[in-house]
Amino acid sequence: MSNSPKRIVIVGASLAGARAAHSVRAAGHDGPLTLIGAEPHLPYDRPPLSKEFLTSEQDPGSLALDPDGAYDEIDVEVMASTFAVGLDTESRTVSIAPAAGGSAETLPFDGLVIATGAAARSLRGTEGIAGVHTLRTLDDSMAIREGLRAGARVAVVGGGFIGSEVAASAVARGCEVTVIEAATAPLMRGLGAEMGARVGALHDDNGAELRLGVGVDGVLGTDRVEAVAMADGSRVPADLVVVGIGVVPNTSWLEGSGLQIDNGVVCDATLCCGPPGIYAVGDVARAPNGWLGPWHGDAPIRVEHWTAAVEHGMAVGRNLIAPDEAQPYHSVPFVWSDQYDARIQIAGHPDADDDVEVLVGSANDGPNTHNRDSSRSFLAGYRRDGRLSGVMALNAIRPFVRFRRLLAGHPTWGEALELAATLN
Ligand SMILES: Cc1cc2nc3c(=O)[nH]c(=O)nc-3n(C[C@H](O)[C@H](O)[C@H](O)COP(=O)(O)OP(=O)(O)OC[C@H]3O[C@@H](n4cnc5c(N)ncnc54)[C@H](O)[C@@H]3O)c2cc1C
Repeated sequence: MSNSPKRIVIVGASLAGARAAHSVRAAGHDGPLTLIGAEPHLPYDRPPLSKEFLTSEQDPGSLALDPDGAYDEIDVEVMASTFAVGLDTESRTVSIAPAAGGSAETLPFDGLVIATGAAARSLRGTEGIAGVHTLRTLDDSMAIREGLRAGARVAVVGGGFIGSEVAASAVARGCEVTVIEAATAPLMRGLGAEMGARVGALHDDNGAELRLGVGVDGVLGTDRVEAVAMADGSRVPADLVVVGIGVVPNTSWLEGSGLQIDNGVVCDATLCCGPPGIYAVGDVARAPNGWLGPWHGDAPIRVEHWTAAVEHGMAVGRNLIAPDEAQPYHSVPFVWSDQYDARIQIAGHPDADDDVEVLVGSANDGPNTHNRDSSRSFLAGYRRDGRLSGVMALNAIRPFVRFRRLLAGHPTWGEALELAATLN
């Protein structure tokens, strides 16, 4: 612990930052600890924002990541509504400024955790048009919820996880929903055309219209949105548009800091960004994951998954406090998505170029019947270089747990088939 820092500052008060605050204390840091967050709220959970928060009248307070008083208990100074606007790695200071405007001040640190996450990408030319939303924050979700009235025409631009979840929530609220996706199947990049189409079928099954293979030119309407203008000249009339076309890591405040910024903050396997005592975690971090080694070596990868943000946050305390004993990050990637009554779970690193095969259940059963144990329940395996690279499960929670565990040991395709035989 001889190198351990005295004053620790965490920038970004959300999942990875909050978990980092706990892990820094758990690792034995007893000096000052400050958590800086741009949002006015204490750290809250984002996954419900596209799911149950939209379909219920749930109170925003129920999304809090930690119970009342938790940060006082571990003696963390939380500075909400405060932006980090600059980092000087020489003087080891962060410049901060109030979100409401006002002059910047500097905050010295010995240890720094960068946990500024990502921001939703918006559709060019839609700024200032009422009724057009992106979804990243609690405030975004509250504004969308307001517009999800029965009968409202909702257009969702982007058929990824967040777009698909918003579509499902809008259907549940009685809206007329159109999902617009430029690719020929939703989730094609991650799951490939075949499994993307299987998952996309959930929209058809549940009464949302899916428009594939056509781009969006912009939105129509002066003060308020009236329609989405499609690249083929057609229009999708809409009272509300939700744009789900990916995210951009929040790194602009690090410009000129000397840290390597390239689609996130580039880190080593221990999440260190180069200068001693400076680490990055969660959606903003681009770090190697030892589990991906057989395919990616130690190339840094950025992921936007809840579990990785938690794992990074939990790991960084130990690495920051005892850098001589720092451990490389190593974990089977995992993400889930809830759409309509289906639970989709993905583990490992499936790729659109992998061979894919249904290993458990059948993907060809009849339409989903609003029931988790319904007829459409299967697990598909992805094969690369003779090994199982990843799995995708739809309403197949128990088989998924077994395969997620198997993936830890980089199983051969034969071992995957053996496990599948015990589950069919
Ligand atoms: C609607 C929605 C649904 C999701 N559903 C799922 C799901 O089902 N499954 C799953 O695995 N993952 C899901 N995710 C992804 C998951 O929530 C993210 O991976 C996770 O929130 C990442 O945590 P983070 O702390 O790294 O970043 P973030 O949660 O993005 O937090 C970063 C924080 O830093 C703050 N910040 C940014 N810049 C500054 C600055 N300069 N100064 C101070 N503060 C700053 C931001 O305001 C924000 O509060 C979902 C995400 C969203 C938005």
